[in-house]
Amino acid sequence: MVKKKIKQKKVEGKKLKIGWFSFSCCEDSTIVFTELLNDHFEEWSKVVDFQYIRVLRGKNKLEGLDVAFVEGAIASDREKKKLFEIRKNCKKLVAIGSCACTGGPSAQRNIFPKELEKEIEFLLRKFHHSDKVHKLEDLVRVDAKVPGCPMNEEKFLEVLGKMLVEFGVNR
Ligand code: SF4
Repeated sequence: MVKKKIKQKKVEGKKLKIGWFSFSCCEDSTIVFTELLNDHFEEWSKVVDFQYIRVLRGKNKLEGLDVAFVEGAIASDREKKKLFEIRKNCKKLVAIGSCACTGGPSAQRNIFPKELEKEIEFLLRKFHHSDKVHKLEDLVRVDAKVPGCPMNEEKFLEVLGKMLVEFGVNR
């Protein structure tokens, strides 16, 4: 079989427009990401437009993202709505960390025994949480995953590299 060589057209000066979002979780992958920024910011700032990243900037824009990196599980209708909004505004969505990829450990209340479920019921109502916690894939299309608790750094760098190539961004 003859393999076709796919040539990716790179666009001079183009940047990958990314967003970083956190839902129900401990946000440790966000910490890993900010630590990676210490080492890579100079290099990344030439090819990445940090369009929506609340740990970095006060003013953020959701519309027209190339890639949304989403950490955490979805535990309420409010979070579900926000996730749908993110999906609508990005071309690729990447699940970051175990909670986003598999639901757990954030989703551990899904397997609570009946008595414990009863005990926490008032808290779920008080904070408008849904009955079950969801991984991202239960609700929206997920294009790539970075597993780990917190996320695996090498895998994140690999996925980011692939996205830069896919979107034709020059490195
Ligand atoms: S995957 Fe682990 S590190 Fe990431 S939010 Fe969940 S519990 Fe925290």
